[in-house]
Amino acid sequence: MTTTTTSEKDAGSQIAYLARVLKTPTITRVFEDLAETARDQAWSHEEYLAAVLARQVAEREESGARIRIGGAHFPQLKTLEDFTMDHQPSLRRDILAHLATCTFIPKAENVVLLGPPGVGKTHLAIGLGLKAAHAGYPVLFDTATGWLARLQQAHATDGLDKELKKLRRYKLLIIDEIGYIPFDATAANLFFQLIAARYEQGSLLVTSNMPFGRWGEIFGDDIVAAAMIDRLVHHAEVLTLSGDSYRTRARRELLKTTTTNTMSTK
Ligand code: ADP
Ligand code: MG
Repeated sequence: MTTTTTSEKDAGSQIAYLARVLKTPTITRVFEDLAETARDQAWSHEEYLAAVLARQVAEREESGARIRIGGAHFPQLKTLEDFTMDHQPSLRRDILAHLATCTFIPKAENVVLLGPPGVGKTHLAIGLGLKAAHAGYPVLFDTATGWLARLQQAHATDGLDKELKKLRRYKLLIIDEIGYIPFDATAANLFFQLIAARYEQGSLLVTSNMPFGRWGEIFGDDIVAAAMIDRLVHHAEVLTLSGDSYRTRARRELLKTTTTNTMSTK
């Protein structure tokens, strides 16, 4: 451990003052400890400055991600790392890994996840949404029903255009569960407007339990559905998940172990 000289102390209080002016509280917190390490390990001036700045930037990115995750309204926090690929042997890992890099977002490309209930569509949607939030992109998650309520509300008050413009600040919109509830003609039209407004402007991540061939049934109109799908998939990665519901499988496995345990105790 080295002792600090008076001039170092003076510089220290100056740094604390300057960091306050710059609104960089992490610098205030770490500069003294890092200076000590720097003296002990004979860092160059550049190495010390880089270390201090790196801590500040890391902290700022982390708090930005925290804010974005809070603002995304995810129903739960599910990560891609927690997703067991073994349950989805047909899912292209390379595509998912590529999506996880979030490069589709600045290109305003879309992601569509299709498959029966319980196969992990919502889990993957949240996982990718979290990646986006960490990568610095504002995200907003809602179910199709939630989105519809929001669009209807906007339509009835400030106007749909204004709402669609406001949504531009979100670089990724997640629409979960298209298909569980059918839409009437007005609802289908509002939805079409949302998808048309995002076309080549901002990314959408959509999940549905219905294959595209049945979207006409959801929206009560084959033409509107086709126009929507057309815009959605023009620049998109469409992933189809298959297999049993993870929920029932987990339940079945639990039952199996319970039965085995019961049998073995006999
Ligand atoms: P979907 O949206 O397709 O109906 P969910 O994403 O809600 O399905 O998945 C149902 C439950 O099973 C969730 O708790 C989810 O975390 C879990 N789950 C589904 N697939 C997987 C998987 N491959 N690995 C880990 N958990 C999974
Ligand atoms: Mg779901």
